[in-house]
Amino acid sequence: MTESLATVSYIGATILFILSLGGLSHQETARRGNLYGMIGMTVAVLATLFGPRVGMAGIPWIVGAMVVGGAVGLVLARKVQMTQMPELVAFMHSMVGLAAVLVGYAQFVDPTAAAAFSGVEKTIHEVEIYVGILIGAITLSGSVVAFGKLSGKIGGSPLLLPARHWINLAGLIAVLYYGYVFINASHEQGLQALIIMTVIALLFGVHMVVAIGGADMPVVVSMLNSYSGWAASATGFMLNNDLLIVTGALVGSSGAILSYIMCKAMNRGFISVIAGGFGTGGGTPAAGGSVQPAGEVISISAQETAQLLLESKNVIIVPGYGMAVAQAQHTVFDITKLLREKGVSVRFAIHPVAGRMPGHMNVLLAEAKVPYDIVFEMDEINEDFPQTDVAMVIGANDIVTPSALEDPNSPIAGMPVLEVWKAHTSIVMKRSMASGYAGVDNPLFYKENNRMLFGDAKKMLDEVLAILLTSDH
Ligand code: NDP
Repeated sequence: MTESLATVSYIGATILFILSLGGLSHQETARRGNLYGMIGMTVAVLATLFGPRVGMAGIPWIVGAMVVGGAVGLVLARKVQMTQMPELVAFMHSMVGLAAVLVGYAQFVDPTAAAAFSGVEKTIHEVEIYVGILIGAITLSGSVVAFGKLSGKIGGSPLLLPARHWINLAGLIAVLYYGYVFINASHEQGLQALIIMTVIALLFGVHMVVAIGGADMPVVVSMLNSYSGWAASATGFMLNNDLLIVTGALVGSSGAILSYIMCKAMNRGFISVIAGGFGTGGGTPAAGGSVQPAGEVISISAQETAQLLLESKNVIIVPGYGMAVAQAQHTVFDITKLLREKGVSVRFAIHPVAGRMPGHMNVLLAEAKVPYDIVFEMDEINEDFPQTDVAMVIGANDIVTPSALEDPNSPIAGMPVLEVWKAHTSIVMKRSMASGYAGVDNPLFYKENNRMLFGDAKKMLDEVLAILLTSDH
């Protein structure tokens, strides 16, 4: 393939990636967006494989690596449960970070790459290597810790070292110093500086993510997504590959925008997220608010739930992580269809961090074929709860916690939540009184107008559906 054909293919792939991102922004066009992305990536891989830079001798190596990587990816993707998706994403980010680190070292030790540059160009190339390895190493170790936290292998509570901000500052100064040494040193000394910086960056990545509280992990996952994009972009600079630079920048900026949107949804400062070590309430680990919920909870049966639903005019369903665990989305939709046939207005309210990954609930509802026009984002529907007869909370907890608004000492204080308690009646469906991901108690359960339907969400909803089907209301 000639140089110009490869360039044209790269431009085509870039356009397809941009179209892909555009498509992924709406549920209706998400499939098309995925398709564009897949075609773009195929074009990019083929143009690289048969492009002018890879000689015939290189092809078996690349194909071999692709077969191994592809096989691992295929096995993981087939095995992974929907609820484990964030872990898989974190794992993949760590691979991008590792790739950036390896490419950086390869560029540094490769004598032909070093000989190709001199003067200012050499310095620029060395800065690219240094920055690429730095971002890659932070992404690598940060993502490994995020993977550990999300999969429960590492505890979710934040680990706060004393003077952690000073430690980070010292790390930053050391990284700048060794950067100076690296650029001005001989090859051997340069390698030493590079290794020391890599170790500092790896430790910084670990330190940044272990300091983050469990409930704030979604932002971290999308922030690491952004970092992995910048790592790829830095690799593109090292390899002088325009497509990698642009693709990395697309991933980096879309990850940063998503982090920003999630920060807003959780009432966190974006800058403090980027700086790491956030979400700990100014230094105190999440340990519950000052106002402990008190009172009695009132439980309700499946029969009574069905009755309440039938007597309602308006129902809002709030799905959460428990719906995903129970795989109750299909039954939820069967109930929705039935109630709508009986003239009850049923809508869904989606909190931006419901479940364990951005868009988690939307994916499940789309899988169950719930029409998009009855699925609303939090901002669109939150004001409607006072005019709602029944708010049905299915396996959600943190996202419907009133203490986020009412208790300034709550670890999730200030996080906007779905105000289900303002409905005439709220019904919370879960198995026990256990807390949610953030580990905070939920005063909603004790409200006078709240009812608890205890049990596995799928089992309980199956019972409610069976009763609704036999009802002649
Ligand atoms: P929560 O984790 O707060 O609560 C889920 C509830 O579901 C639990 O309290 C659990 O109670 C219940 N549950 C679990 N299994 C079942 C089941 N089989 N049947 C019925 N209920 C069940 O989830 P939310 O969706 O309310 O909130 C999401 C939380 O996760 C937030 O804190 C968010 O910050 C965090 N997070 C979000 C991410 C994202 O990107 N969306 C990523 C990572 C974390 P019980 O055990 O009693 O049944």
